[in-house]
Amino acid sequence: MNFPLELAVKKINRHSLIINLDYCGTCHGTCSGCLLSTEEKDSTESFLTLEKISHCFAEISKPLNYVEQLAIGIGRGNALALQDQSWDILKQLGEIVQQYFNYGTCTLEVATSLIGHQRQQLDKAKALIDWYNQQYLNIDCKFVVISNPGLTSKNYWKNIQWFLSELALKRGGGENSADILVLNLMSDSLPSLKLLEPLLQQHHGPINIFWASGVEFKYLSENVGFRQKIKAVSHWLEAFFQRSKKLGLDCNLNNMMTLIKSSNELETKEVLEQLNQGKGSLIFIDKNADMTWGDFTVLGEIDPVRQFNPGQTNDYDRHHSGKNIHSEIKQLFRHSACQQCDYFSVCLMSGGYKTAALNIKLQESRSVSESTQWKQCCPSALKSVFEMALN
Ligand code: SF4
Ligand code: SF4
Repeated sequence: MNFPLELAVKKINRHSLIINLDYCGTCHGTCSGCLLSTEEKDSTESFLTLEKISHCFAEISKPLNYVEQLAIGIGRGNALALQDQSWDILKQLGEIVQQYFNYGTCTLEVATSLIGHQRQQLDKAKALIDWYNQQYLNIDCKFVVISNPGLTSKNYWKNIQWFLSELALKRGGGENSADILVLNLMSDSLPSLKLLEPLLQQHHGPINIFWASGVEFKYLSENVGFRQKIKAVSHWLEAFFQRSKKLGLDCNLNNMMTLIKSSNELETKEVLEQLNQGKGSLIFIDKNADMTWGDFTVLGEIDPVRQFNPGQTNDYDRHHSGKNIHSEIKQLFRHSACQQCDYFSVCLMSGGYKTAALNIKLQESRSVSESTQWKQCCPSALKSVFEMALN
């Protein structure tokens, strides 16, 4: 196990901690920007055993006295498609969470793509909610529905709406009864806002945006330009931001824009200090039970191993995320659009710079030469949203 936890002299209290597990790969989805390999998606059993998870929790909890808000993410495939032993581990997980962590609230966030037999998956989801209610471990069981951008028909969104509303009803329909929806973005199949509208109006829980541009662009053929793809995402983000603001959605894009409005006047140095202070609240445990720090960004939680080096989890410097903030910023300094950008500090604050740095790096690694238009293009796709939010 390889994790940079410093030996703590005195145990600390944390306001929040999210631990995301690469628990399973099982999924019949077809998203072209999937972080999983075909082999991983075809697997029918979980990658992690209870024993391996226990070891990781023991390490993570060593320097901690108390966590006010703890969340355990069960990713990355469709946990509701798991059977037998792998499914049972999800039930036993609660006990080891309680064994290692002293927490105020704890949420188990179970990922599902809902691809497969939906009635069966709904029944399993309800059974898991009941199980955790009966265990009295003070653990709330929530589901994270990850949308498959390749399947965005009217019926597809209707099914998601049905699943989310059934579970909200199961919890009594009151405050905090809703699950989480993640809109997984791909530049060539962005969800239609028209088809999404009924869901946006009805769903009262968080609706978060996720864009893993590194995975999408890594395998792009040399003659396909990034610029048009980034522009497509940028236009979609603008339209979604306008709509989500109007509807007052609990969305990572809205929430981050509210936060940066209050930090807009900060100097780059102060923003960097804030970013460093925020580190250490997000941990990823990969399928081999190796751990790494993650980063919160406006375009989703970043797992540096999966997102920055897809398919090569073993050879990667796992401490990348904590060490390379300055080299990522240098990437932006080399790009004309960023050099002249009025929203540079805001881009740092939101974590958008991570997507930008990665896209610049990927473009530079291609044999096609950079066009003037590319140099003028905002590489994070976020500039127009910053403009809207701050003006
Ligand atoms: S739903 Fe998630 S796990 Fe399944 S294919 Fe799509 S991105 Fe991959
Ligand atoms: S908003 Fe776009 S152009 Fe501005 S600094 Fe960020 S990535 Fe660069």
